[in-house]
Amino acid sequence: MTVQEALSASGIDAREARLLLAEAAGFSQASVLAHPERELPSDVERRFLQFTLRRGNGEPVAYIVGHKEFYGLDLIVNPAVLIPRPETELLVDLALEREFSSLVDLGTGSGAVALAIKRRRPQARVVAVEASAAALVVAQRNAVKHGLEIEFRHGRWLEPLAGERFQLIVANPPYVAEGDPHLGDLGFEPRGALVSGPDGLDAIREIARHAPRHLAPGGWLLLEHGMGQEAAVRALLSQAGLEELDSCPDLARIPRVAGGKVK
Ligand code: GLN
Repeated sequence: MTVQEALSASGIDAREARLLLAEAAGFSQASVLAHPERELPSDVERRFLQFTLRRGNGEPVAYIVGHKEFYGLDLIVNPAVLIPRPETELLVDLALEREFSSLVDLGTGSGAVALAIKRRRPQARVVAVEASAAALVVAQRNAVKHGLEIEFRHGRWLEPLAGERFQLIVANPPYVAEGDPHLGDLGFEPRGALVSGPDGLDAIREIARHAPRHLAPGGWLLLEHGMGQEAAVRALLSQAGLEELDSCPDLARIPRVAGGKVK
């Protein structure tokens, strides 16, 4: 079978088919486009067929190919971790706008946020916390892959940080409400990384409550949140005693990151 024949027979979106064929064959996508007449070895053809069947079944491309780009880093991903989202790059941007020499990323998942920040601030001490042991393995592999030194801690939110203070705390916690119809599209991703109680705010509530005692004077907490949660998250930050509350919209103009500063 030729490249062109395989692509036509795939039955999936043309752009995704090119990407999956490039991954199955070990070619670049440019080379897939440039040589439609190329004959595919039978093992490549078989692998591509497997990929297209998985994609046809709804599995995200990132899990099929095993990696995903985030903030210029190619990250290893598997079903133990949430697939890094482009809107989460905003959390990294907002962290990098601030001065800090110590930072912790809570619920690091693939390590995306911690690694993107560490790459831009190599002198800063960066700690990453994760409750899922399987996710922590992925994050550690990503740190090794990119040669970035992160201190990893296994545990829930701020629990493994007793007695420690940071100048910046960031998190992209789960924030989808139980029973949200949107979850139907996210069935391949770890539920614990997505869902957080009846209103989606359980994790944010817990983080906001405990963050002040882990912030150095003048330190900031920055949290990604869901659509329509802006007011509730700001109220939680305010209840926790944080000040100078700030909200920032993502590229789709949806308020996406809220932050507050400790006195
Ligand atoms: N932004 C993700 C989504 O709705 C949810 C990620 C999260 O809960 N942190 O697809």
